[in-house]
Amino acid sequence: MPVTCGNRRRHPDGKPTAHATVAAVRACYLAEETWACGWQTALTNPEDGEQYVVECDGLSWYLPDGRGDTCEYGHEHINAETRHRERWDYAADEGEAGLLAGRGIRPVSMRGGSIDIDPHAMRYAMSLPG
Ligand SMILES: [Zn+2]
Ligand SMILES: [Zn+2]
Repeated sequence: MPVTCGNRRRHPDGKPTAHATVAAVRACYLAEETWACGWQTALTNPEDGEQYVVECDGLSWYLPDGRGDTCEYGHEHINAETRHRERWDYAADEGEAGLLAGRGIRPVSMRGGSIDIDPHAMRYAMSLPG
């Protein structure tokens, strides 16, 4: 349920007047820096099957522990340093996930969840020297 936010000057284009979460309203007032998310989602028009891309205009801010940034709709991006330290990384597809897993790095989907692993790509990565 949207949460009303009166901090308009912080909002991209002076809108919206509500955020998706209480955390986002808090960030809107307290975060040193906020910006429009820009997360791109590919959608298909059911009418003509045409693909198009929409950009998320949700409020984004840095996570307080320095791990990365997030937006009010949960588009989280953890920075490379943190990913390296925690031994995981983003994978765009099963093949990339397999290559990461074969190197002992836990693959995570671009949306932050689990992802299927291509066993062939994983075996290939394990067969590489170093
Ligand atoms: Zn706000
Ligand atoms: Zn977003």
